[in-house]
Amino acid sequence: SFYQSLLQEANPGIADRIISGIDAGNIRENLRVLTEQPHIAGRRRDFELVDMLRTRFQESGLHVQVTPYDVLLSYPNDDTPNSLRLLDNTSTVMYDAARDESNFSKVKDVVPQFHAYSPKGLVEGEVVYAGFGRVDDYEWLLKEGINVSGYLVIVKYGRLFRGDKVDIATRYGAAGVIMFLDPADVTGYNMGDPRVYPDTWWLPPSGSQRGTVFTGSGDPLTPGFAANDLAYRYTEETVVPPMPQIPSIPVGYGAAENIMRELTGDKEVPLDWQGGLNLTYKTGPGFLQPGWKVQLNVTSSNQRAKAENVFGIIRGSVEPDRYVLYGNHRDAWIYGAVDPSSGTAVMLELARVMGDLVQKGVWKPRRSIILCSWGAEEYGLLGSTEWVEQYVATLRERAVAYVNVDIAVRGNDTLSAGSTPMMHDILFDAAKKVPNPNPDEIAAGRKTVYDTWLKTLPWPNMDGGSAGIPGVGNLGSGSDYAPLLQRAGITAVDISYVHDPKKYNVTGYPIYHTEYETFQIVDTQIDRGFEVHAAMARVAGEMIRNLADSLVLPFHLSSYSRGLEVNRKALDKDYGTQLRNKLSNYDLLEKVIANFSKDVDDFETRLKSLDKSHPFALRVVNDQMLLLEKAFLVPDGLPTRPLKKHLIFAENANDAYAGSSFPGLVDLLFQIGDNAERWELVRQHFSTVLQTIQSAGATLRDVT
Ligand code: GLU
Ligand code: CA
Ligand code: ZN
Ligand code: ZN
Repeated sequence: SFYQSLLQEANPGIADRIISGIDAGNIRENLRVLTEQPHIAGRRRDFELVDMLRTRFQESGLHVQVTPYDVLLSYPNDDTPNSLRLLDNTSTVMYDAARDESNFSKVKDVVPQFHAYSPKGLVEGEVVYAGFGRVDDYEWLLKEGINVSGYLVIVKYGRLFRGDKVDIATRYGAAGVIMFLDPADVTGYNMGDPRVYPDTWWLPPSGSQRGTVFTGSGDPLTPGFAANDLAYRYTEETVVPPMPQIPSIPVGYGAAENIMRELTGDKEVPLDWQGGLNLTYKTGPGFLQPGWKVQLNVTSSNQRAKAENVFGIIRGSVEPDRYVLYGNHRDAWIYGAVDPSSGTAVMLELARVMGDLVQKGVWKPRRSIILCSWGAEEYGLLGSTEWVEQYVATLRERAVAYVNVDIAVRGNDTLSAGSTPMMHDILFDAAKKVPNPNPDEIAAGRKTVYDTWLKTLPWPNMDGGSAGIPGVGNLGSGSDYAPLLQRAGITAVDISYVHDPKKYNVTGYPIYHTEYETFQIVDTQIDRGFEVHAAMARVAGEMIRNLADSLVLPFHLSSYSRGLEVNRKALDKDYGTQLRNKLSNYDLLEKVIANFSKDVDDFETRLKSLDKSHPFALRVVNDQMLLLEKAFLVPDGLPTRPLKKHLIFAENANDAYAGSSFPGLVDLLFQIGDNAERWELVRQHFSTVLQTIQSAGATLRDVT
């Protein structure tokens, strides 16, 4: 009977019990408590929430672990705030952005507008408007004869990660960066809706998006080392990647309008540089009034602080050494009612429901389940990165998969996801099991979360049609799945409920990282009744159950073949002509992917005839699947980013929010021209790509 217990099939009733056990009202109450006070990383309330999570996990019967790290964070100076001023030719202050900061900021513990890790510095001078701050935007300016070197640049948020905007501005020689939210992106401007928070979710003029501008990952001082007492620490001067080099500040559109209104310039700016400010967008440099200038004074400082992760653990009954991970960060810039507390509210309810089933003896998950509450994500994925750095060997051997639910609900229309290929079908299967939280959709015949998702965000086919499945993005960076996938090779999925992009033409959500991310706006506008949150808990819970309980791991490896081919086509579209010209063996990429597919097909055929009454036979195939993602890790990392170890998935080097297809190649090919040395590196890395795919395929072959 011991032998039999090793072969216990998952109890089919558990899926339904988790789904029906989730209670929307509990999630609402969780969110209310989590967002009562601001809880920025490393400060009082963050530690109170550590205690709260510890208690809640324990009450749910979970075993708790806390891992503290000693990291570098960044805070504004309480006595001398950061400032942005417009000065006339006698240095008289004509406009002071601080005046427009909302009343909220006077509330205790609400951190004023700042960019984490911006260096201190006072910069005074003329301003150039540089659109979204993309490389192409600076190239356009140069073509028009405008070099931003030595000037302050003003750029709008959107399209790419803010840290990359500062990095790119630095590369083009800018002296400082002002980053604003354009009304076209954060208000009802395009829809003719003048209302703002709290009547709608649209942002008032003073709302500014806080956020990190650090482009590395993890504690800035300890890349490659866990930030504990065994760590080697670089200094802020010696560390690579470097700390941000030029001062920057985020502002609302109210402040932006006051500065942009004064700019001169005779060039017509590109179409997408224009927006919703009530003025004609000009490039500068130079002001309408001679002698005027802008003064940016950043007084924030970097300080060592503690970042803690809290883990709630359910020990697996048959394979306790196989870990199914679910996680989200805990720290918020202010109240964080959407980012990240919607995800934490969901996690706490899952802990309750799953813990209850385990405590009652109804459920004995086969594998261990670990709920992770990460610290200091907002500063650059610190808690999760340090944990991976500390336990990388363990995780590479034992972690099955990671489900990230950070921003659980930022809209109420449809599920949206980024994922590694192996997780696609697990997500689809879960979404098919979960009832649609939207009654109108049910009335229209779309009974499940999956149905609405497929209709609203279908996978874009090459010819524009739908391939019959919902669209799933590649994982770039932007939340805690990044270090788990890129450093430990843990296959991962990241899910959110979002608005239909056809309904609101805004990316993300207007109140993101502002003081308006409050419980009230979620409760009254984003998810009345919290049924969308409940649906998210059900989708995530069902994925975890499936991964933790299935006798044969539920990965669909054929999706990996498809994923490689999708990425090959994306690479080919952007760089095919160049690569074909310079690499005599370029066609081999398609060949090795075809060989990999063949290995996958053979594996799946063998799986069908697997003797499931043999625990070791099961463990053999499960290990082959578990280790497949890890087979794509390369020890030296990507050629120009040694800490990025995953050959296929990394963020785009010029936009941490975006994925990149064969990132090592894309890094080298960026603006490569005829650089012979770089082309040699391309040839070298191309060989790494071919051989890694081939050896990954080999791990799937019959073991004897
Ligand atoms: N999620 C945070 C942000 O978007 C951190 C992202 C990162 O450092 O990659 O600001
Ligand atoms: Ca570190
Ligand atoms: Zn987040
Ligand atoms: Zn965030």
